[in-house]
Amino acid sequence: MQTVQSKKISFVSPCYNEQDNIEPFYNLVKKTMLKEKCEYEIVFINDGSKDNTYDELKNIYEKDNEHIKVINFLHNFGKEAAILAGLNNAVGDYICTIDSDMQQDPKYCIEMINILENNKNIDMVAAKPSNRKDPVILSFFKKGFYKLINKISEVPFYQGISDFRVFRKNIKDTIISLPEHNRFSKGIFSWVCPDIVCIDYEVKQRMTGTTKWSFIKLLKYAFAGIFSFSYVPLHISIWSGIIEVFASLILSITNIIRMTNHTTQDFSFLWTMVVILLLMGIQSINIGIIGQYLEKIHTEVINRPVYVIKNILKKEN
Ligand code: UDP
Ligand code: MG
Repeated sequence: MQTVQSKKISFVSPCYNEQDNIEPFYNLVKKTMLKEKCEYEIVFINDGSKDNTYDELKNIYEKDNEHIKVINFLHNFGKEAAILAGLNNAVGDYICTIDSDMQQDPKYCIEMINILENNKNIDMVAAKPSNRKDPVILSFFKKGFYKLINKISEVPFYQGISDFRVFRKNIKDTIISLPEHNRFSKGIFSWVCPDIVCIDYEVKQRMTGTTKWSFIKLLKYAFAGIFSFSYVPLHISIWSGIIEVFASLILSITNIIRMTNHTTQDFSFLWTMVVILLLMGIQSINIGIIGQYLEKIHTEVINRPVYVIKNILKKEN
């Protein structure tokens, strides 16, 4: 059985208004790593905190610059940007993305690394909260979102899995090589590494402070996921246009059949419907055609690699 002692672990930890959590979090990581005798670094990203988070980070950096890196953002760019900055500065063999609010215990990181150490075919392990209970309405929306996005996106999205993950350096290198600016990390993780192993973990209460996620923020996040990883919304227009044109065609045929049956019915409303459906359909198809070009422009602009090689088997010369 392989052990983690020979490897360096980089913790990437975004912080936004976490002044009272920084020191306890640092102490907990240090204690866990000393117990495991692991080499480690913690890359903290201060995401434009408005409290004393930066001073706290500076304090621990001055005490222990061997193990601490601090990246201080000009203002709040969001967790996704913070994770990217952290990955850009992490040099470990294994990377662990972990929140700095004490809800995620670094002991699970060791469990995740041991899985990677002993399974060379697995590149990423993610932790799933076993005890997180969302309010009924929120859990209904979350379920709906995951059902929808898994239907319309080509990459898998796993419900309930947090950003508390451990992955190999090669996965980190691929993630940071993606030049897109709208970074939806759940999707990027899945795009880079669709097959993951999950472990359960007990999510702790926040030590201090409150969650930064409001319902509106979650809704925006859900839309960001859909628009970053699916082109289905762009295809809706062309299909609805085709349906409308088809409906106008059927309606005009039934009108003609009924008119030739010499009824005394007034057909002006039904012919108006035919014209409306036909014009709406043509318009939707035209928008859909523009959508097809937009899709191509979007794929060019985000510039994801055409392929990513996992490994090559070939005879060396
Ligand atoms: N965070 C951040 N920038 C933000 C919001 C949050 O860096 O704009 C950090 C925050 O300090 C924490 C982590 O992201 O370490 C997760 O945030 P939070 O605890 O609010 O999310 P939850 O645990 O409720 O999902
Ligand atoms: Mg939290």
